[in-house]
Amino acid sequence: MGLIVQKFGGSSVANAERVMNVAKIVTDTYREGNDVVVVVSAQGDTTDDLIDKAHEINDHPSKREMDMLLTSGEQISIALLSMAIEKLGCPAVSLLGWQAGFRTSSAYGSARIKSIKTDRLRAEVDRHNIVVVAGFQGINKYDDLTTLGRGGSDTSAVAIAAAMHADRCQIFTDVEGVFTADPRKIPEARKLKEITYDEMLELATLGAQVLNNRSVEMAKKYNVEIEVLSSLKRVPGTIVKEVAKMEKMLVRGVTKDTDVARISVTNIDNTPGIAFKLFSKLAQKNINVDIILQSVGRDGTKDITFTVAKDNAVDAIAAVHETFDIDDKNITCATNVAKISVVGAGMESHPGTASKMFEALYEHDINIDMISTSEIKISVLIDAQDADRAVAAVHKAFYPELN
Ligand code: ADP
Ligand code: ASP
Ligand code: MG
Repeated sequence: MGLIVQKFGGSSVANAERVMNVAKIVTDTYREGNDVVVVVSAQGDTTDDLIDKAHEINDHPSKREMDMLLTSGEQISIALLSMAIEKLGCPAVSLLGWQAGFRTSSAYGSARIKSIKTDRLRAEVDRHNIVVVAGFQGINKYDDLTTLGRGGSDTSAVAIAAAMHADRCQIFTDVEGVFTADPRKIPEARKLKEITYDEMLELATLGAQVLNNRSVEMAKKYNVEIEVLSSLKRVPGTIVKEVAKMEKMLVRGVTKDTDVARISVTNIDNTPGIAFKLFSKLAQKNINVDIILQSVGRDGTKDITFTVAKDNAVDAIAAVHETFDIDDKNITCATNVAKISVVGAGMESHPGTASKMFEALYEHDINIDMISTSEIKISVLIDAQDADRAVAAVHKAFYPELN
């Protein structure tokens, strides 16, 4: 018995039948004697559909109005789920993000949670209500609605678990847990029993959609143990925590990220301070740079290639123009690229990991464009059209026993 936070993603509440299924899970937990706070996302593809609707009207809507629109998706879900819970005979109350006390930064579209004033949540729990909270949203200092960025409901759930010192935080989704690769693409992928925050953070950042990376960051900061599990099949999922049992695995997972643009700048002066000038300009514009490659060009010049998220490509090119007085022909931008990564704390002490990954790609005739490494991950940039083949090849190389 205790306080349990349960989060259900879009596919788990996609239609009436799924909403009733979620209500059953929630009321079972409540009837076992627990206090329950539920966080839900918008139904199915609602958020994508709302974005399309906005673009039918205006190609560049303001971020404030976009947030006003997108928060409505979660509003539908909380009302429907509360009605479903009532139908199953339990008391429920739905709350929008601001009613649940979510105060955020003012950055519409990618707001950060600043604090949660838990008085209302506590009061509703004390009244023995099942509290159903709209994920992905809050309110900023101008009393405007904000959203936390795509996939942000995971972060809402972890934040509530941290603020209310919940005994458990369960993230229910449409797969059985965290796998060694996306189980929808790689049927041989294996479910992990446990994974550390650091490894999960890398997986989430490098493209494993199953948890939002900010939610993992927050779970690590406040030491919230997360359980990722299926809303459709009642079997044990994956536990995300500080120290995980090693399952004799060098690599915990293989990921693919296609939200990458590669920008190359050629023929710049080979003098000190060039990289500093460019990357400080990019930082000023709040653009995160991922992989960087600098090479010597011809006649005392140098070339710099770097990657950014696709959304930032136009601003990054503008930053290059603001930094250097160069011709358009010396700047190229490619968006048909993908980043494939392997992640695992074990690889630090195993020198063969990189060569194994590169060999698998070579055997499938897949060309590597750029490489970057850290203690617990290796990433390569390749052609987007090779991405799925690459994940399959690399996964097979690291988990031959599963094939
Ligand atoms: P929700 O709507 O519940 O938030 P998401 O679609 O955001 O669900 O995330 C779940 C999806 O993440 C799965 O359907 C799966 O295809 C994808 N996924 C990608 N990589 C992984 C992985 N390594 N393990 C599990 N699922 C993954
Ligand atoms: N509905 C939002 C999205 O689609 C938030 C979420 O699903 O977590 O991104
Ligand atoms: Mg999600």
